[in-house]
Amino acid sequence: MKVVVIGGGFAGLNLSKKLAGNIQIEVTLVDKNNYHFFPPLLYQVATAFIEPSNISYPFRRMFQHRHNLRYYMGSLVKINMETNTIATDSGTLDYDYLVLAMGAESNYFGMENVKNNALPMKTIDDAINLRNHILLNLEKLVKSNDPLEREIRRNIVIAGGGPTGVEVSGMIAEMGKYILEKDYPELKGRRDTIFLVDAGHALLGPMSGKSQQEALKVLTRLGVQVKLGTAVKDFTNDKVLLSTGETINSNTLIWASGVIAREAPGLPPESIAQRGRRIIVDEYNKVAGTSNIFAIGDQCVQTTDKNYPNGHPQLAQVAIQQGKLVAENLTRLSKGEVMRPFSYYNKGTMAIISKFKAVVDLPKGFFKGFIAWLVWLFIHIIPIAGFRNKAKLAFNWFWSFITNDPTLRLIIRPRKGKNR
Ligand SMILES: Cc1cc2nc3c(=O)[nH]c(=O)nc-3n(C[C@H](O)[C@H](O)[C@H](O)COP(=O)(O)OP(=O)(O)OC[C@H]3O[C@@H](n4cnc5c(N)ncnc54)[C@H](O)[C@@H]3O)c2cc1C
Repeated sequence: MKVVVIGGGFAGLNLSKKLAGNIQIEVTLVDKNNYHFFPPLLYQVATAFIEPSNISYPFRRMFQHRHNLRYYMGSLVKINMETNTIATDSGTLDYDYLVLAMGAESNYFGMENVKNNALPMKTIDDAINLRNHILLNLEKLVKSNDPLEREIRRNIVIAGGGPTGVEVSGMIAEMGKYILEKDYPELKGRRDTIFLVDAGHALLGPMSGKSQQEALKVLTRLGVQVKLGTAVKDFTNDKVLLSTGETINSNTLIWASGVIAREAPGLPPESIAQRGRRIIVDEYNKVAGTSNIFAIGDQCVQTTDKNYPNGHPQLAQVAIQQGKLVAENLTRLSKGEVMRPFSYYNKGTMAIISKFKAVVDLPKGFFKGFIAWLVWLFIHIIPIAGFRNKAKLAFNWFWSFITNDPTLRLIIRPRKGKNR
């Protein structure tokens, strides 16, 4: 049986790994990048705290000695349901079963200027781009005598008060506190001004009230200006326009607000939900209106789980659990057995706010502070692919936390041009 999986994130990779060694099933994992990466730590790459290679790992290395797993580099162009094939930008593949696991991308809610000028944080490329932007801004700032330019380069606006927005705000504020004056003596006494803007009425929207209050308290203490009930409306000519009518002079708008599922051209229109463009699936993650196509993770919406009638949150654990169950169901199908429906087991949610401070919501409880921070570190090191990566990450963390001065603030810009 030929299974093609498009997307090697949490969902697609866990599905593929679960099928490793099952010689009845030949798996081809298609991904536009030749590596798997760990999005929850992207903000630490973006703030030069850890290296990109600490949180990414090549598929081909993972698939060594797993004889029924193949990696194929390519980006989906179209699904041809009549011929059971997919067209990618680098060739065509045929399948008996297709699994869509391409995740989600930033949603700019139709604001073209924001889309063109803001800095998203969804991929490794985005994180490196943001790191370069922040560091280049500082280099230009130290040379400028123009008050307006200085203001534009010192103000940083972060849109979205979910875990990513909170984590990146805390990290940039700490960079300002521990690193700025040491690396840039020219800026002595002047800190970046960080604005965290969210349209809702609390930070960490999906988390408990206690976590929300703790995040607000810690960030405010770090000097972050939190603006709740406020949305970004436009971003052009180094001005961020807010829904309150206020304008912030800044050339840095970090976009951590809202996602939309990646497009999968070729699926029947009735299988795409209006909200968030997510692919509608049944209790087995089978795509509505198809017989041999599944969708898992952030890209799909499943309303059959009784505890989640509006669909699951777009979280790593949902993607991992769906990937594993669909792998088991494909094995069942290959043996002519019936499939098992999906139900999500919530292990809890957490967010880091700053050094030594995190919040953890468990199904039956809440805790915060240093212990929560340690739990966060521990939980985030386990799923990092590869033993060497875990060891390198642990060392980098240890070094950076002890010294308050990681040495990764390098501006490395890839040369533009086409590789053949
Ligand atoms: C900055 C950030 C922080 C986060 N923090 C947390 C957290 O702390 N806790 C938590 O639970 N969740 C967190 N999330 C959400 C979590 O990362 C997602 O829920 C999870 O990654 C979804 O897994 P997925 O496999 O569905 O998609 P993804 O992990 O996004 O994987 C999609 C894969 O598809 C590939 N792909 C995309 N388009 C194509 C294409 N056209 N052709 C081929 N391949 C393609 C991509 O390269 C990628 O490998 C965070 C997300 C981000 C962006």
